[in-house]
Amino acid sequence: MKPVIDSFIWQPEAETMVPSDRRKLQAVRLRDTVARVSHVPFYKKIFAERKITPDSIRTVDDVRRLPFTTKADLRENYPLGFLAVQKDQVIRYHGSSGTTGKPTFVAYSRNDVVMWSDLVARFLTACGMKPGHTVQISFGYGLFTGGFGLHYGIERLGASVIPVGSGNTAKQMMVMQDMAVDGLICTPSYALKLADTIRDTGLSDGKLNLKFAQLGGEPWTEDMRRAIEERAGFLCFNNYGLSEVLGPGVSGECAYRNGMHIQEDHFIVEVIDPETLEPVPEGEYGELVFTAITKEAFPLIRYRTRDIARLIPGACPCGRTTIRHGRITGRTDDMLIIRGVNVYPSQVEEALLKVEGTTPHYQIELTRPEALDEVTVSVEMSPAIFSDSMTDMLELKKRIHHAIQSVTGLSMDINLVSPQTLERFDGKAKRVTDRRNLNRE
Ligand code: ADP
Ligand code: ZN
Repeated sequence: MKPVIDSFIWQPEAETMVPSDRRKLQAVRLRDTVARVSHVPFYKKIFAERKITPDSIRTVDDVRRLPFTTKADLRENYPLGFLAVQKDQVIRYHGSSGTTGKPTFVAYSRNDVVMWSDLVARFLTACGMKPGHTVQISFGYGLFTGGFGLHYGIERLGASVIPVGSGNTAKQMMVMQDMAVDGLICTPSYALKLADTIRDTGLSDGKLNLKFAQLGGEPWTEDMRRAIEERAGFLCFNNYGLSEVLGPGVSGECAYRNGMHIQEDHFIVEVIDPETLEPVPEGEYGELVFTAITKEAFPLIRYRTRDIARLIPGACPCGRTTIRHGRITGRTDDMLIIRGVNVYPSQVEEALLKVEGTTPHYQIELTRPEALDEVTVSVEMSPAIFSDSMTDMLELKKRIHHAIQSVTGLSMDINLVSPQTLERFDGKAKRVTDRRNLNRE
């Protein structure tokens, strides 16, 4: 096995630690975390019931005595019920890329931001980024953790950032060329779109300086990696994170690209069966669960990510001793990630129900014909509306489009169908057909 690029290790003392020593460090940090969250009402109550005290935490395996934390728990304690420090200790808030209504907020202390920057610098170093490189961030900077998370990590590493933000492909291309950009940060789907543009404008023939892209924020596949690399000639790396746990920096690939190294000195990872909540046998697929053991402002215990993946045991030739996980192959809930935006089918339903002349019978189809995800929503009209004129149909379509866009933030194609034509379900409805082929590694 050969690395695809020369790369270094950012913090060798932590990243190449003997695993048994790291487990001792994790146990100490877990104990400290239990102490730090002991006054968070949610944990305080459960710790009292289960007689959990910091001193009762002796090994990493004691994590299994602790309660899980879920997205629903965050919502019930909205917005800052899990804050473990005084507000004057917080220097940053982010929100999940929650589309409608309310996001879930997370908070960072000054030390948290320093730690976060280091963890991002780790995976960036692993993919070959060095001081002197110019890096273009094409992630959004909004509540989303991606833009600022990468921004601080790149600066920490000593490379320079161009914070272009998301969208506007023409501007992205201009910056990339004029500023001789070395590295690109965005979602895999946007990287594919840029790669198409690079190929179509004849820039793939060595005319760009772009060498690598660090991609994350949504599921993608090896085929997609190949497609981007073949079109545009820069190397693509995968990194994973979620706002509740940290944001980007939870894990990332090294130059061997054989799974994403989990930053285990900062997170304890478990893989559980989402039904039984018991650990799966080593190397099998299950739901990733993370405990943040160094965060000050918003440390969550056993956060259930709902992301399905497997751990890859064994040493990595890069020298890092941290465990790796494979690509995210699915979700335990019905959340879809469309063009980087989190969407639940129920949101589409909610939007439809607001539009007169539709019925709650609908189907959502996802495709990825070229670079970007496309969504078509088929909606049954009510018999009353159906007999009306063409102009009325177009008008109805527009209203549905608008309703869905205002709830999800996404533009979806609307396909109106006659009454009684869509499939009916006896048991669980299957309303989503995902043809994007993301459930492969
Ligand atoms: P953000 O605000 O960073 O989008 P969210 O918490 O809203 O964070 O979304 C995080 C989710 O995005 C993860 O739980 C996972 O489903 C998905 N995700 C992030 N990075 C990757 C990746 N490299 N591969 C697959 N899925 C990813
Ligand atoms: Zn490695």
